[in-house]
Amino acid sequence: QTGANDLQTKADRLVQMSICASLARKFPKVTIIGEEELPADEVTEELIEDGHCEEILKKTCPTQYTGIKEEELVIWVDPLDGTKEYTEGKAIAGVINQPYYNYEAGADAVLGRTIWGVLGIGAFGFQLTEAPAGKHIIITTRSHSSALVNDCISALNPDSVIRVGGAGNKIIQLIEGKASAYVFASPGCKKWDTCAPEAILHAVGGKITDIHGNSFQYNKEVKHMNSAGVLATLRNYDYYAIRIPNTVKQSLVP
Ligand code: AMP
Ligand code: MG
Ligand code: MG
Repeated sequence: QTGANDLQTKADRLVQMSICASLARKFPKVTIIGEEELPADEVTEELIEDGHCEEILKKTCPTQYTGIKEEELVIWVDPLDGTKEYTEGKAIAGVINQPYYNYEAGADAVLGRTIWGVLGIGAFGFQLTEAPAGKHIIITTRSHSSALVNDCISALNPDSVIRVGGAGNKIIQLIEGKASAYVFASPGCKKWDTCAPEAILHAVGGKITDIHGNSFQYNKEVKHMNSAGVLATLRNYDYYAIRIPNTVKQSLVP
């Protein structure tokens, strides 16, 4: 491995240890599934975060979730998104932290932000913005393209295509009006990539499925790979869904 890859992996492991150990200490009965294979050793105390968010605690828990027991919850943890740069298992709550948000805004700007959402409450930490009306701006992978990925996008006749890393990053572009559809006709994206972004997108009325239109499941027995790709929009989901070519669908087995 190269130095950069080593550093990346070390950062992934440290962030995952911090998130998983902190969650496990506060919620010992939840199932936590992280992207990185990690030995379950002791985590140094300095990695433990025991704070909480006042803003969230002020909200009323939607009644459909008040009966959920701690041991029924599964938390999917993606330590760093896009590093290469209940019993139904629905995603009901998500948090995305962008530590370097605003880095271009100068030394006085507040660096970093946290976007979070819960189905039935809404999503916070950003300004919900509609994408330009009548334009089809597709957002997709920067570093995991293939002929199928590109053929699928071409079939949608986009006005423009944005290529950026990270599943969470792409969902943020949808809810901030930068793109109209996230299209990824390929396996590769995993449950920890889509879980938090899905909850946030659904909390504001968007939709995310695989390329066939199947919704994702997040119970602990589910396979980690989203084998049949990703299709997500804030609005006009059907416009894109009905235009996915059958040849593309036939190439992607759920
Ligand atoms: P991307 O849109 O390429 O940034 O992919 C979104 C997420 O899916 C990334 O964070 C990766 O973890 C994962 N991913 C997508 N495609 C692949 C692939 N071909 N190999 C490995 N990981 C992938
Ligand atoms: Mg990811
Ligand atoms: Mg990751």
